[in-house]
Amino acid sequence: MTAAPPIIELCHVDKYFGPFQALTDINFAVRQGERVVVCGPSGSGKSTMIRCINRLEEHDAGTITVDGILLGDDTKDIRAVRQDVGMVFQQFNLFPHLTVLENLTIGPIRVRKMDKAAAEALGRKYLDRVHIPEQADKFPSQLSGGQQQRVAIARSLCMEPKIMLFDEPTSALDPEMISEVLEAMVELANSGMTMVCVTHEMGFARRVADKMVFMEAGRIVETAPPGEFFTAPKSDRARMFLDQIL
Ligand code: ADP
Ligand code: MG
Repeated sequence: MTAAPPIIELCHVDKYFGPFQALTDINFAVRQGERVVVCGPSGSGKSTMIRCINRLEEHDAGTITVDGILLGDDTKDIRAVRQDVGMVFQQFNLFPHLTVLENLTIGPIRVRKMDKAAAEALGRKYLDRVHIPEQADKFPSQLSGGQQQRVAIARSLCMEPKIMLFDEPTSALDPEMISEVLEAMVELANSGMTMVCVTHEMGFARRVADKMVFMEAGRIVETAPPGEFFTAPKSDRARMFLDQIL
């Protein structure tokens, strides 16, 4: 059996904000269907790294390839990559003046030129998938944080992405709502979605991660299978980090 080629590949990536170097020599590959969990202290560059993958940030050196597209200045390519890559943020970023179903259909209608009935069918399918079909006609403010985040996941899935990026999707939630969102993410992982998740939910990481990435001060310090990472991290930095959060 030959391994699939990487669907995401970062080679020697550097990123600066003014004089400040946020990423240094990042080398990172994700294969189709792989689930990668990225962790590390606050300010270590986790968000910056995953934001570079869908060009919310521009890298300054090295190369980033996503689904065969080399990320450069070509806006056509950037649009193509954005269609391939869904992203879920800590803040749900739903449109407050649109219903849940309208939040889900606006992308398919505007970007994919789908007709309204087809978009609504798609929206309801993914609302079912995250177990809140009964919330279709409510407004975001009428939902709990956990429900809003599941709508945000469903909204991304409506664009039928090949890759899903998550940036601390449960950090803004009350504790009792975290598990319902993680459960939706586990189900997505089990469906075969390629996922890169920045999270400190190590129970989730143990359940779904094929690979753990630990970052510190803008560098990837350690990449290991979860079994190894949790029981015998190679670096002192990772061991100290795990001691603090576990
Ligand atoms: P993490 O997600 O691991 O907490 P970030 O990727 O958000 O870390 O940030 C990495 C570093 O880059 C931090 O020192 C942060 O202050 C800095 N940084 C992030 N975004 C910006 C920005 N837009 N302008 C200036 N500095 C930034
Ligand atoms: Mg972050």
